[in-house]
This record gives sequence, C-alpha cells and structure tokens, in this order.
Amino acid sequence: MATIIDGKLTSKNTRQRIAEKTQELIKRTGVKPGLAVIIVGEDPASQVYVRNKKNGCAEVGFYSREYALPEATTQEALLRLISELNSDDAIHGILVQLPLPEHIDENAVIQAIASEKDVDAFGYASVGKIMIGKYDFLPCTPAGVMELLRAYGIDPAGKNAVVVGRSNIVGKPQAMLLLHANATVTITHSRTADLADITRKADILVVAIGKPKFITADMVKEGAVVIDVGMNRTPEGLCGDVDFAEVEKKASFITPVPGGVGPMTITMLLSNTLTAAETFADKK
Ligand code: NDP
Repeated sequence: MATIIDGKLTSKNTRQRIAEKTQELIKRTGVKPGLAVIIVGEDPASQVYVRNKKNGCAEVGFYSREYALPEATTQEALLRLISELNSDDAIHGILVQLPLPEHIDENAVIQAIASEKDVDAFGYASVGKIMIGKYDFLPCTPAGVMELLRAYGIDPAGKNAVVVGRSNIVGKPQAMLLLHANATVTITHSRTADLADITRKADILVVAIGKPKFITADMVKEGAVVIDVGMNRTPEGLCGDVDFAEVEKKASFITPVPGGVGPMTITMLLSNTLTAAETFADKK
C-alpha cells in the first residue's frame, strides 16, 4: 500500500513558515503583503476558490482585498481596475480568478497585470522566466507538487517523470519544474499514441487532465509516485483523475483528492505574494 501524501499537513507547515516570514517583513520594513483577488460573475467553483484564497491570506497575516464584479463587467472596466491596482502600493499581488465570462479576452487581462504583481505566474514575463529556470514567481499548482515531493523526500533527479496534460497552467510548467529538478520528462496529451505504454514507464506520474478516475492501476508501474492534480465534481463528490482505490495498492506514494495537491496551490500563491512584497520592500 502506498504512503498517502498529505497535502493539508504539508500546506499547514509551509503556511506556518510564510506567516513567520510575514511577521519578520512587517517588523523590518513596515510592509504587509497585500493580495487583490478579482472575480467576475458567479461561477460557484470560482467563488469557493476565491473564499479559500481570502482565508489563506488571513491565516498568514496578509492584507487582502476582494473585488466581486458582476458578470456584465466590460473588459475595459476590468483593465481599468487592474491598471489602478498595478500602481497601488498596498497591493503586491493581483489575481484574476479564471475562467472569465466569454465577452472578456482572458489573455488581454492576464497580460495587463504588472509582471512584479503577477503572483499566478501566467503572464509572458513569468512564463519566460519559468522556462529559463530563474523565476520570481512559481507556477502555483506545479510548484505545490514539487513542494509535496520535497516534503516526502522524493528527489526527481534521474527519474522518469511523465506528465499527463499539457495545459499552460499545469502540464507545461509542471514539466519544466521537473526538468529543472533533473528528471527525464515526457509530456503526454489527448493525441498521445498508446498513453498507457508511456505512463507505465513513469517513476513519477503527474496527472492533470480533468477526467475522473482516468488513470487505472494497469497504467501505473509498481512502486511509482503518483500525483493527482485533477479535481472533478461528480455526483459522488470531488474526485481526481486517478482511480485512487486501485492505484493506491500499486504506487509507493500517492496524493488523495481532496487533500493532496489542492491545498498546496493556494499556499504557493501566498508564497509568491510574500516574495512580491519582499521585492517591493527592498526597492522602497
Ligand atoms: P485543461 O483542460 O486546460 O487541460 C487538460 C489537458 O489534459 C490537455 O492538455 C488535454 O490534452 C489533456 N487530456 C485530456 N484528455 C486526455 C486524455 N484522454 N489523455 C491524455 N491527455 C488528455 O485542464 P487543466 O490543466 O487546467 O486542469 C486539469 C485538471 O487539474 C482539472 O481537473 C482541473 O480542475 C485540475 N486543476 C487542479 C488544480 C489544483 O489546485 N489542484 C489547479 C488547476 C487545475 P490536449 O492538450 O491534447 O487537449
């Protein structure tokens, strides 16, 4: 039976360190890290994420401001708000909750966030830095995965790592972080031929596709480390992309859903916001 990777506990320990560093920063410079979270419309899942982000800020002693804008908000109005926040000294990180309503160009909004406040690390400058491996801000979900591996003493160096999914927010940056950690990385996607043949060679398997219980035990190597990023709302409740009950019997380590990668994502967002505030304080 696999060791269960406890994302809640790891997250709690990491947040404790962030809270301590926050107090040090405030004492040393008077700067309190500030995060602005913008949500447009009333998507219930987005509302949960925004609430969790606000609670996360309170937990580590940050200042936070929430902008809950109506569905009909124009792109122009949203860009104006971002421009104001870009020059607001109380705000060090700006996060726009995705997805946005269809009439708003998501990319235009993401790119409007000043790079020094791009705590989600989705802007061109942040993505470029991730590619090079010299980042200010970590891509939150993939960085959360790396933190979990570290916490459980799993070193990716020299291992075969397979990432299932190639999205800009999870799959691609995940592959980069594993590569920077010296894994040999394969990225797979919906057009990959014979996916199971590739996943079966993975020492570390990271799955981010959004399909409930898609990865079955026959697709996993005995003793593999299995990281399930998927979050699927099903009639039976929240579940991951991995058939946990079966794969758990074969893996050496596995993340549960919920309670695995999920809690780490917001923790890494808080970590990025602290970094942004530290950089701001140093330049003051
Ligand atoms: P996207 O929908 O943007 O990307 C899904 C990726 O999975 C695509 O690259 C797609 O391939 C690939 N894919 C789809 N079907 C298959 C298949 N049958 N075989 C192989 N690959 C496939 O999703 P995200 O990356 O944004 O999210 C993935 C999952 O992770 C979701 O469940 C999401 O809710 C969750 N998530 C969880 C987070 C957390 O904090 N825990 C944060 C972000 C996401 P192709 O490119 O060819 O279409």
